[in-house]
Amino acid sequence: SFSNISPQFILLLMISFPICSFSWPWTSSALPSCDLPIRLRTDPDAVTAASNDYGNLVHEAPAAVLYPSSIQEIVDLIKLSNNCSTPFTVAARGRGHSVRGQAMAGGGVVVEMAALSRNGGGIRVSWSPSLGYYADVGGEEMWADVLRVGLEHGLAPVSWTDYLYLTVGGTLSNAGISGQSFRHGPQISNVLELDVITVLGGLGQFGIITRARIVLQKAPTRAKWVRLIYNDFTMFTRDQEHLISTNINGPNYVEGSLITDQSPPNNWRSSFYSPSDQSKILSLLRSKQGLLYSIEVVKYYHDTNIDTIDQEVKLLVKDLNFIPGFVFNKDVSLVDFLTRVGSGRDKEEEKSSDRELETHPWLNLFLPKSSIMDFNDAVFVNVIRRHNHTSGPILFYPFNRQKWDDRMSAVTPDEDIFYTLGLLHTSRPHQSDVYDNLNSEILDCCEKADIDVKQYLPHYISKEDWMKHFGPKWDTFQERKTKFDPRMILSPGQRIFTSVM
Ligand code: FAD
Repeated sequence: SFSNISPQFILLLMISFPICSFSWPWTSSALPSCDLPIRLRTDPDAVTAASNDYGNLVHEAPAAVLYPSSIQEIVDLIKLSNNCSTPFTVAARGRGHSVRGQAMAGGGVVVEMAALSRNGGGIRVSWSPSLGYYADVGGEEMWADVLRVGLEHGLAPVSWTDYLYLTVGGTLSNAGISGQSFRHGPQISNVLELDVITVLGGLGQFGIITRARIVLQKAPTRAKWVRLIYNDFTMFTRDQEHLISTNINGPNYVEGSLITDQSPPNNWRSSFYSPSDQSKILSLLRSKQGLLYSIEVVKYYHDTNIDTIDQEVKLLVKDLNFIPGFVFNKDVSLVDFLTRVGSGRDKEEEKSSDRELETHPWLNLFLPKSSIMDFNDAVFVNVIRRHNHTSGPILFYPFNRQKWDDRMSAVTPDEDIFYTLGLLHTSRPHQSDVYDNLNSEILDCCEKADIDVKQYLPHYISKEDWMKHFGPKWDTFQERKTKFDPRMILSPGQRIFTSVM
């Protein structure tokens, strides 16, 4: 929260700014003109890696890349920039899973946080009477490693992202959402303490997260995983809202999604269905004008509950209004469930050559509950269904706003329940415009219908759009930038202050 300001961070930012001879913009040959206390890389491999991200849409070359071997080196780098008459920009890069260059620093220095990672070596599990179980985790560590190390102690975090090969610092700079957020809030609601950063959900604008203290709970061992198919949007959303309102004996995870010709039941995010179930759903899809909805509900359990879990799940779905016969079940280990998207680093690396040929012009939105019927008509029925190029998973599921802390910079619609839409397009580079146009068409539809959407993982290019995004939080956000990063050094790739101030 705003009050979590670590002394180390204040020290880092409250230093004075003596003049040093420094030429700007940097070129590789100009780098040594300042007496660098640390070694920066300027070779093509390092620069190319830091000029790319998962989106593969924005490419901005830094002048240099820091592969830190200690936190002190990051402190030194930021001090160095602050001490120069013309400071250079600095961006922390987690795993570069942003889609619009948010972790880049064109002409500045990218800090490859992964260099600090020791494959979970930076994760320490503890307990205290006041806090219970928690893990102190380096900002560079991946959530997959937090899971692995936690489970060695029979513990696990409570709030996740769908995909775990993201860094703790990267998701805490945004929010970190998934099907558990309705119950526990986003990942930023489950942090007890941070080193360096001052504002959670701050899009990397206020500091570099070097440690986060994350809430842990006793880990369940298995998951009953159910998928239900709908053709009625009202029932689909009513049932999701019912599921996220149940507390005692309620589900642990709820996510909705759309099924269309271009977004089939099995996709890169999930291969849940057997071939025969998949064909059954596809033939239903043809008879229902090419648009179905699906709810994914999960109930965790411990081995000790094995005798009662089936009955609990039965009760959970008993009064739901899915199409009769279209309920599908799986029983998997907790690890298999949480790592269902991308099954590990090796698989991820194998695919990296394919990735170079792909772009990911994603659009992620938050929508107020009061507008979802209009949104379904305007966007799902009229745009998505008739858009031949829509590709990739389309997620649509609700959150309880009370689980979000309004003091944080993360922005949500102003209603008790709001939905997230995730349009996770994959495209060939020459087709990205098609998806950008589709995204713009969706945003235009919302504007015309007066739907107050907020972007998640936002990408704007004008100051007006950022101000509109933050709404009443803008003044505070700007004040904090002036206070904690007065020279506008950090995270230029977000384009909040760099291009607009
Ligand atoms: P990067 O992309 O490297 O950085 C993102 C931003 O955070 C940048 O501004 C960067 O400067 C800043 N940053 C990075 N590290 C730090 C640090 N230590 N301190 C301060 N700032 C830092 N998001 C969800 O919420 N839920 C999901 O289910 C989900 N699934 C995803 C699945 C895939 C396949 C992909 C590609 C992305 C997904 N995301 C999801 C989005 C993801 O959370 C963001 O893209 C996140 O920023 C990526 O983390 P990263 O570690 O790669 O960060």
